[in-house]
Amino acid sequence: MSTTHSRAVVIEQTGGPEQMHLIEAPVGDPGPGEVRIRHHAIGLNYIDVYQRSGLYPLPLPLRLGMEGAGVIEAVGAGVEHLQVGDRAAYASQPPGSYCDARVLPAMNVCRLPEDIGFEQGAAMMLKGLTAQYLLRHCKPVEGLQAGDWVLFHAAAGGVGLIVCQWARALGLRLIATAGTDEKCALALANGAVHAINYRHENVAERVRALTAGSGVKVVYDGVGKDTWEGSLDSLAPFGLLVSFGNASGPVPAFAPALLAAKGSVYVTRQTLFHHITSRARTQAMADELFAVVGSGAVQIHVEQRYPLAQVQQAHQALEARQTVGATVLLP
Ligand code: NDP
Repeated sequence: MSTTHSRAVVIEQTGGPEQMHLIEAPVGDPGPGEVRIRHHAIGLNYIDVYQRSGLYPLPLPLRLGMEGAGVIEAVGAGVEHLQVGDRAAYASQPPGSYCDARVLPAMNVCRLPEDIGFEQGAAMMLKGLTAQYLLRHCKPVEGLQAGDWVLFHAAAGGVGLIVCQWARALGLRLIATAGTDEKCALALANGAVHAINYRHENVAERVRALTAGSGVKVVYDGVGKDTWEGSLDSLAPFGLLVSFGNASGPVPAFAPALLAAKGSVYVTRQTLFHHITSRARTQAMADELFAVVGSGAVQIHVEQRYPLAQVQQAHQALEARQTVGATVLLP
């Protein structure tokens, strides 16, 4: 037994950023199928806000954080793909990555290629694997091909900047939306072919104008309540709306007949954690992600860094829409 100690961010009750505080807690040895990792960087994600606020209810007290990168300190029985001393990164349940060190299931922990730094690793697993499944596995019936139009909301965010670049690499014509002109410019610089400031412009009208009236094949919507209607109205007939988040609040209930009225369109609501349910699947998705990052086609933009002890400020900035790209916490 080699117990160590770690600081960890915990909430006793759901609410605002002020509910988060640091505790000191012992960390034991990994059990079968687990590893202990010492973090060098921790990824901040919007899902952490949903869990902290109670939108996604979880048992309390709750440790937060779904993403991190560091060095493997101990390996439990039956874990064959990792060794002590390996550089590694993960997106994993249960939450608890906002800490110095932790024990977690090894299944979603991947060795980090040497040419990818810890900050990038911590910022790219949950967000990058999400970009991977959005672009590669959520397809309209006839598939996505180079030249197809897609629409991505909040394109200057953590997931957004990865998707913009990956879409460019796939030859897709991605229309970005974002909340400021600066964010629109950033999305364009990262591969979007057009950008719409959705605080000032009607998204569906602009999309129709940009696509000669046809609409887009796929809309990727992580904003939710505020963009839902515009997303439906931007689709081509038989198009696909992939709802994958609710930064502005949950999407309201709707009747299926609405989908016929909008052009016999499809709607799906996805979560990464249904895509990474086995070691082989996680590794295959991660390998594809590591390859696009390693080739330089996708760069991981870590644009905000906070000490772990300033986690409240980090959440405030994310919720106030003050961030671009990814944010990491540093132990
Ligand atoms: P982002 O860095 O994209 O931050 C969220 C962005 O949403 C903001 O920067 C802001 O951009 C935009 N936004 C629009 N309206 C609001 C609002 N009312 N309040 C706050 N932000 C708003 O976050 P992430 O990259 O971490 O995640 C993006 C989305 O993807 C989230 O909804 C997240 O939950 C979802 N997600 C879903 C996954 C899944 O598998 N289902 C996995 C990973 C992420 P702007 O200023 O340009 O409007």
